[in-house]
Amino acid sequence: MGRGPTADYYQVLNEDYVEGTMTCLKPSTIKSVINTQFPNILNIEPTNSCNLKCIYCPRERSDKGVGFMDWNLFTRIVNEASEYSKLIMLNFHKDGESFIHPKFIDMVRYAKKKDVAKTIHMNTNAVCWTDRIIDEILDSGIDDITVSLDAARSGTYKKHKGIDCLDKVEDQVRRFFKRREKLGLQRPFTRVKIMEFDDVSKEEVNEFIDKWKDVADMVQITGIHNWSGEINNIKVTDETSQVRYPCVIMWYALVVNWNGEVTVCSVDWNTEIKVGDVKSQTLHQIWNSHKIKEARKSQLEKRYDKYSVCKDCIVWVSVGDITDWLIQQKEFYL
Ligand code: SF4
Repeated sequence: MGRGPTADYYQVLNEDYVEGTMTCLKPSTIKSVINTQFPNILNIEPTNSCNLKCIYCPRERSDKGVGFMDWNLFTRIVNEASEYSKLIMLNFHKDGESFIHPKFIDMVRYAKKKDVAKTIHMNTNAVCWTDRIIDEILDSGIDDITVSLDAARSGTYKKHKGIDCLDKVEDQVRRFFKRREKLGLQRPFTRVKIMEFDDVSKEEVNEFIDKWKDVADMVQITGIHNWSGEINNIKVTDETSQVRYPCVIMWYALVVNWNGEVTVCSVDWNTEIKVGDVKSQTLHQIWNSHKIKEARKSQLEKRYDKYSVCKDCIVWVSVGDITDWLIQQKEFYL
Protein backbone atom coordinates (compact mmCIF):
# COMPACT_ATOMS: atom_id res chain seq x y z
CA MET A 1 0.00 0.00 0.00
CA GLY A 2 1.09 3.57 -0.20
CA ARG A 3 1.74 5.87 -3.05
CA GLY A 4 4.02 3.51 -5.01
CA PRO A 5 4.22 2.57 -8.10
CA THR A 6 7.86 1.84 -7.33
CA ALA A 7 7.75 -1.19 -9.60
CA ASP A 8 11.25 -0.45 -10.92
CA TYR A 9 12.57 0.03 -7.45
CA TYR A 10 10.94 -3.07 -6.09
CA GLN A 11 12.25 -5.06 -8.98
CA VAL A 12 15.67 -4.40 -7.48
CA LEU A 13 14.69 -5.61 -4.02
CA ASN A 14 12.49 -8.43 -5.24
CA GLU A 15 15.25 -9.89 -7.32
CA ASP A 16 17.00 -10.87 -4.13
CA TYR A 17 14.65 -10.80 -1.16
CA VAL A 18 11.68 -12.83 -0.08
CA GLU A 19 8.79 -10.47 -0.75
CA GLY A 20 7.95 -8.18 2.14
CA THR A 21 11.28 -8.64 3.93
CA MET A 22 14.55 -6.78 3.95
CA THR A 23 16.47 -9.49 5.77
CA CYS A 24 15.58 -12.79 4.13
CA LEU A 25 17.26 -13.53 0.83
CA LYS A 26 15.47 -15.97 -1.45
CA PRO A 27 16.93 -19.49 -1.39
CA SER A 28 17.67 -19.15 -5.13
CA THR A 29 19.59 -15.91 -4.43
CA ILE A 30 21.47 -17.50 -1.55
CA LYS A 31 22.52 -20.41 -3.73
CA SER A 32 23.81 -18.12 -6.44
CA VAL A 33 25.55 -15.38 -4.43
CA ILE A 34 27.10 -16.69 -1.24
CA ASN A 35 30.86 -16.97 -1.30
CA THR A 36 33.79 -17.22 1.06
CA GLN A 37 35.29 -13.95 -0.08
CA PHE A 38 32.87 -11.53 1.52
CA PRO A 39 29.30 -11.34 2.88
CA ASN A 40 26.45 -10.14 0.64
CA ILE A 41 24.76 -7.95 3.25
CA LEU A 42 26.57 -5.74 5.71
CA ASN A 43 25.15 -3.81 8.66
CA ILE A 44 27.26 -0.96 9.96
CA GLU A 45 26.31 0.63 13.26
CA PRO A 46 27.44 4.28 13.26
CA THR A 47 26.37 4.56 16.88
CA ASN A 48 24.22 2.78 19.44
CA SER A 49 23.35 6.08 21.08
CA CYS A 50 19.65 6.92 20.80
CA ASN A 51 17.34 9.84 21.43
CA LEU A 52 14.37 7.68 22.46
CA LYS A 53 13.78 5.28 25.34
CA CYS A 54 11.71 2.53 23.76
CA ILE A 55 10.36 0.07 26.28
CA TYR A 56 10.88 -2.85 23.87
CA CYS A 57 14.58 -2.18 23.20
CA PRO A 58 17.39 -3.86 25.21
CA ARG A 59 20.02 -1.42 23.88
CA GLU A 60 20.93 0.11 27.24
CA ARG A 61 21.57 -3.30 28.82
CA SER A 62 24.33 -4.15 26.37
CA ASP A 63 27.84 -4.75 27.73
CA LYS A 64 29.50 -2.95 24.81
CA GLY A 65 28.67 0.51 26.20
CA VAL A 66 27.45 3.45 24.13
CA GLY A 67 29.73 4.94 21.51
CA PHE A 68 30.37 6.22 18.01
CA MET A 69 32.23 4.55 15.15
CA ASP A 70 35.57 6.11 14.39
CA TRP A 71 35.75 7.63 10.89
CA ASN A 72 39.00 5.83 9.96
CA LEU A 73 37.55 2.52 11.04
CA PHE A 74 34.46 3.23 8.97
CA THR A 75 36.39 4.08 5.81
CA ARG A 76 38.55 0.99 6.24
CA ILE A 77 35.41 -1.18 6.31
CA VAL A 78 33.92 0.45 3.23
CA ASN A 79 37.22 0.40 1.36
CA GLU A 80 37.49 -3.32 1.98
CA ALA A 81 33.89 -3.90 0.88
CA SER A 82 34.60 -2.05 -2.35
CA GLU A 83 37.23 -4.66 -3.28
CA TYR A 84 34.62 -7.43 -3.55
CA SER A 85 31.35 -8.00 -5.43
CA LYS A 86 28.79 -5.32 -4.76
CA LEU A 87 26.81 -5.89 -1.59
CA ILE A 88 23.12 -6.62 -2.06
CA MET A 89 22.47 -4.26 0.81
CA LEU A 90 24.38 -2.01 3.16
CA ASN A 91 22.27 -1.26 6.23
CA PHE A 92 23.29 1.78 8.24
CA HIS A 93 21.87 0.80 11.60
CA LYS A 94 21.92 -1.68 14.39
CA ASP A 95 20.97 -0.67 17.91
CA GLY A 96 21.05 3.14 17.87
CA GLU A 97 19.82 6.16 15.93
CA SER A 98 22.37 6.72 13.18
CA PHE A 99 21.61 10.41 12.64
CA ILE A 100 23.11 11.12 16.06
CA HIS A 101 26.57 10.30 14.67
CA PRO A 102 28.06 13.69 13.71
CA LYS A 103 29.45 12.29 10.45
CA PHE A 104 26.56 10.07 9.50
CA ILE A 105 25.67 11.84 6.25
CA ASP A 106 29.36 11.80 5.31
CA MET A 107 29.32 8.05 5.89
CA VAL A 108 26.43 7.62 3.47
CA ARG A 109 28.15 9.83 0.90
CA TYR A 110 31.39 7.90 1.25
CA ALA A 111 29.69 4.51 0.82
CA LYS A 112 27.75 5.85 -2.16
CA LYS A 113 30.89 7.23 -3.77
CA LYS A 114 32.59 3.87 -3.33
CA ASP A 115 29.53 2.22 -4.91
CA VAL A 116 29.65 -0.69 -2.47
CA ALA A 117 26.00 -1.74 -2.48
CA LYS A 118 23.03 -2.17 -4.78
CA THR A 119 20.91 -0.60 -2.04
CA ILE A 120 21.92 1.55 0.91
CA HIS A 121 19.19 1.36 3.52
CA MET A 122 18.64 2.56 7.06
CA ASN A 123 16.08 2.51 9.84
CA THR A 124 15.56 5.81 11.63
CA ASN A 125 13.16 7.32 14.11
CA ALA A 126 13.47 10.69 12.28
CA VAL A 127 13.39 12.49 15.64
CA CYS A 128 16.32 14.75 14.82
CA TRP A 129 15.32 15.57 11.23
CA THR A 130 15.36 19.28 10.45
CA ASP A 131 14.99 21.07 7.10
CA ARG A 132 18.78 21.12 6.79
CA ILE A 133 19.09 17.41 7.55
CA ILE A 134 16.27 16.63 5.12
CA ASP A 135 18.16 18.40 2.34
CA GLU A 136 21.30 16.50 3.25
CA ILE A 137 19.47 13.17 3.19
CA LEU A 138 18.03 13.94 -0.23
CA ASP A 139 21.46 14.91 -1.49
CA SER A 140 23.34 12.00 0.08
CA GLY A 141 22.31 9.31 -2.39
CA ILE A 142 20.81 6.98 0.20
CA ASP A 143 18.42 4.59 -1.58
CA ASP A 144 15.96 3.42 0.99
CA ILE A 145 14.73 4.55 4.42
CA THR A 146 12.43 2.93 6.93
CA VAL A 147 10.98 5.48 9.36
CA SER A 148 9.90 3.84 12.61
CA LEU A 149 6.92 5.90 13.75
CA ASP A 150 5.15 2.99 15.44
CA ALA A 151 2.07 4.94 16.48
CA ALA A 152 -0.75 7.06 15.14
CA ARG A 153 -1.58 8.55 18.52
CA SER A 154 0.64 10.65 20.78
CA GLY A 155 -0.29 8.64 23.88
CA THR A 156 0.87 5.38 22.30
CA TYR A 157 4.08 6.97 21.06
CA LYS A 158 4.95 8.39 24.47
CA LYS A 159 4.09 5.16 26.25
CA HIS A 160 6.24 3.04 23.92
CA LYS A 161 9.09 5.43 23.20
CA GLY A 162 9.36 7.44 26.38
CA ILE A 163 9.26 10.89 24.74
CA ASP A 164 6.20 12.89 23.75
CA CYS A 165 7.14 14.05 20.26
CA LEU A 166 4.92 12.29 17.70
CA ASP A 167 3.40 15.52 16.34
CA LYS A 168 6.84 17.01 15.75
CA VAL A 169 8.18 13.86 14.07
CA GLU A 170 5.12 13.51 11.86
CA ASP A 171 5.54 17.11 10.77
CA GLN A 172 9.19 16.51 9.89
CA VAL A 173 8.42 13.37 7.91
CA ARG A 174 5.71 15.21 5.95
CA ARG A 175 8.18 18.00 5.21
CA PHE A 176 10.62 15.39 3.98
CA PHE A 177 8.13 14.03 1.42
CA LYS A 178 7.13 17.54 0.31
CA ARG A 179 10.74 18.53 -0.18
CA ARG A 180 11.51 15.36 -2.12
CA GLU A 181 8.55 16.05 -4.37
CA LYS A 182 9.54 19.67 -4.86
CA LEU A 183 12.99 18.57 -5.94
CA GLY A 184 11.46 16.02 -8.30
CA LEU A 185 13.29 13.11 -6.68
CA GLN A 186 12.17 9.47 -6.54
CA ARG A 187 14.77 8.40 -4.03
CA PRO A 188 15.17 7.55 -1.30
CA PHE A 189 12.26 5.15 -1.35
CA THR A 190 10.77 5.77 2.10
CA ARG A 191 8.38 3.61 4.07
CA VAL A 192 6.77 4.43 7.41
CA LYS A 193 6.32 1.61 9.88
CA ILE A 194 4.06 0.70 12.77
CA MET A 195 4.48 -2.38 14.95
CA GLU A 196 1.72 -4.69 16.11
CA PHE A 197 1.83 -4.30 19.88
CA ASP A 198 -1.16 -5.85 21.56
CA ASP A 199 -2.01 -2.48 23.10
CA VAL A 200 -2.08 -0.84 19.67
CA SER A 201 -5.67 -1.28 18.58
CA LYS A 202 -6.81 -2.19 15.07
CA GLU A 203 -8.39 1.27 14.97
CA GLU A 204 -5.03 2.91 15.61
CA VAL A 205 -3.37 0.81 12.92
CA ASN A 206 -6.10 1.89 10.50
CA GLU A 207 -5.60 5.51 11.54
CA PHE A 208 -1.91 5.08 10.81
CA ILE A 209 -2.65 3.68 7.37
CA ASP A 210 -5.05 6.54 6.61
CA LYS A 211 -2.53 9.13 7.76
CA TRP A 212 0.28 7.88 5.60
CA LYS A 213 -1.08 5.95 2.64
CA ASP A 214 -1.12 8.98 0.35
CA VAL A 215 2.06 10.46 1.73
CA ALA A 216 4.67 7.72 2.13
CA ASP A 217 5.91 5.32 -0.54
CA MET A 218 4.77 2.44 1.58
CA VAL A 219 3.06 1.79 4.91
CA GLN A 220 4.56 -1.18 6.67
CA ILE A 221 3.02 -3.10 9.55
CA THR A 222 5.38 -5.45 11.33
CA GLY A 223 5.23 -7.95 14.17
CA ILE A 224 7.11 -7.74 17.45
CA HIS A 225 9.89 -9.96 18.68
CA ASN A 226 11.37 -9.98 22.17
CA TRP A 227 15.13 -10.00 21.52
CA SER A 228 15.52 -13.70 22.30
CA GLY A 229 13.54 -13.45 25.50
CA GLU A 230 15.33 -10.36 26.84
CA ILE A 231 12.17 -8.23 26.84
CA ASN A 232 9.71 -10.40 28.66
CA ASN A 233 6.68 -8.20 29.13
CA ILE A 234 5.55 -7.93 25.53
CA LYS A 235 3.42 -10.21 23.41
CA VAL A 236 5.39 -11.58 20.49
CA THR A 237 3.51 -11.07 17.23
CA ASP A 238 6.26 -11.75 14.71
CA GLU A 239 5.81 -14.80 12.56
CA THR A 240 8.15 -17.72 12.51
CA SER A 241 8.24 -21.20 11.10
CA GLN A 242 6.91 -23.89 13.45
CA VAL A 243 9.63 -26.29 12.32
CA ARG A 244 13.12 -25.13 13.16
CA TYR A 245 15.98 -25.49 10.73
CA PRO A 246 19.33 -23.70 10.32
CA CYS A 247 19.20 -19.91 10.29
CA VAL A 248 20.92 -19.11 7.03
CA ILE A 249 21.77 -15.48 7.78
CA MET A 250 25.26 -16.56 8.89
CA TRP A 251 25.98 -17.55 5.29
CA TYR A 252 25.33 -14.13 3.79
CA ALA A 253 25.43 -11.30 6.35
CA LEU A 254 27.68 -9.66 8.92
CA VAL A 255 27.17 -6.84 11.41
CA VAL A 256 29.88 -4.39 12.39
CA ASN A 257 29.14 -2.75 15.73
CA TRP A 258 30.26 0.82 16.45
CA ASN A 259 33.31 -0.41 18.38
CA GLY A 260 34.50 -2.70 15.59
CA GLU A 261 33.19 -5.94 17.06
CA VAL A 262 31.63 -8.13 14.41
CA THR A 263 28.55 -10.24 15.02
CA VAL A 264 26.41 -12.45 12.79
CA CYS A 265 23.06 -10.71 13.04
CA SER A 266 21.20 -7.70 14.40
CA VAL A 267 19.17 -9.72 16.89
CA ASP A 268 22.38 -10.26 18.85
CA TRP A 269 21.91 -7.10 20.94
CA ASN A 270 24.58 -8.04 23.49
CA THR A 271 27.18 -9.21 20.94
CA GLU A 272 27.16 -12.77 22.25
CA ILE A 273 28.27 -14.32 18.95
CA LYS A 274 31.38 -12.22 18.48
CA VAL A 275 33.15 -13.61 15.44
CA GLY A 276 35.88 -11.00 15.10
CA ASP A 277 36.94 -7.39 15.37
CA VAL A 278 37.68 -5.08 12.44
CA LYS A 279 40.14 -3.10 14.55
CA SER A 280 42.58 -5.97 14.15
CA GLN A 281 41.18 -8.14 11.34
CA THR A 282 39.78 -7.72 7.85
CA LEU A 283 36.16 -8.66 7.20
CA HIS A 284 37.43 -11.26 4.75
CA GLN A 285 39.42 -12.90 7.57
CA ILE A 286 36.42 -12.76 9.89
CA TRP A 287 34.17 -14.24 7.19
CA ASN A 288 36.49 -17.28 7.13
CA SER A 289 37.35 -17.39 10.82
CA HIS A 290 37.15 -20.39 13.09
CA LYS A 291 34.57 -18.56 15.21
CA ILE A 292 32.07 -17.95 12.43
CA LYS A 293 32.53 -21.50 11.15
CA GLU A 294 31.74 -22.78 14.64
CA ALA A 295 28.58 -20.69 14.69
CA ARG A 296 27.49 -21.99 11.27
CA LYS A 297 28.27 -25.55 12.32
CA SER A 298 26.09 -25.16 15.43
CA GLN A 299 23.18 -24.30 13.14
CA LEU A 300 23.84 -27.19 10.75
CA GLU A 301 24.02 -29.61 13.70
CA LYS A 302 20.85 -28.07 15.17
CA ARG A 303 22.65 -27.17 18.38
CA TYR A 304 20.62 -23.96 18.67
CA ASP A 305 21.35 -23.72 22.38
CA LYS A 306 25.07 -23.19 21.77
CA TYR A 307 24.25 -19.46 21.93
CA SER A 308 21.42 -18.22 24.12
CA VAL A 309 20.56 -15.54 21.56
CA CYS A 310 19.90 -18.27 18.94
CA LYS A 311 18.20 -20.63 21.36
CA ASP A 312 15.36 -18.27 22.14
CA CYS A 313 15.32 -16.41 18.82
CA ILE A 314 11.98 -16.35 17.02
CA VAL A 315 13.09 -14.27 14.05
CA TRP A 316 15.67 -16.68 12.71
CA VAL A 317 15.83 -16.59 8.93
CA SER A 318 13.29 -19.21 7.86
CA VAL A 319 13.22 -19.06 4.07
CA GLY A 320 12.82 -22.77 3.40
CA ASP A 321 14.98 -25.59 4.61
CA ILE A 322 18.15 -25.74 2.52
CA THR A 323 20.20 -27.66 5.10
CA ASP A 324 21.25 -30.39 2.65
CA TRP A 325 22.62 -27.79 0.27
CA LEU A 326 24.37 -25.89 3.08
CA ILE A 327 26.04 -29.09 4.28
CA GLN A 328 27.56 -29.48 0.83
CA GLN A 329 29.18 -26.02 1.10
CA LYS A 330 31.93 -27.37 3.32
CA GLU A 331 34.23 -24.36 2.99
CA PHE A 332 31.75 -22.36 5.09
CA TYR A 333 32.10 -24.50 8.20
CA LEU A 334 35.18 -26.76 7.99
S1 SF4 B 1 18.94 -17.72 15.08
FE1 SF4 B 1 18.37 -15.55 15.52
S2 SF4 B 1 20.04 -14.85 16.85
FE2 SF4 B 1 20.79 -16.71 15.85
S3 SF4 B 1 21.85 -16.00 13.99
FE3 SF4 B 1 19.72 -16.42 13.39
S4 SF4 B 1 18.66 -14.44 13.58
FE4 SF4 B 1 20.56 -14.29 14.75
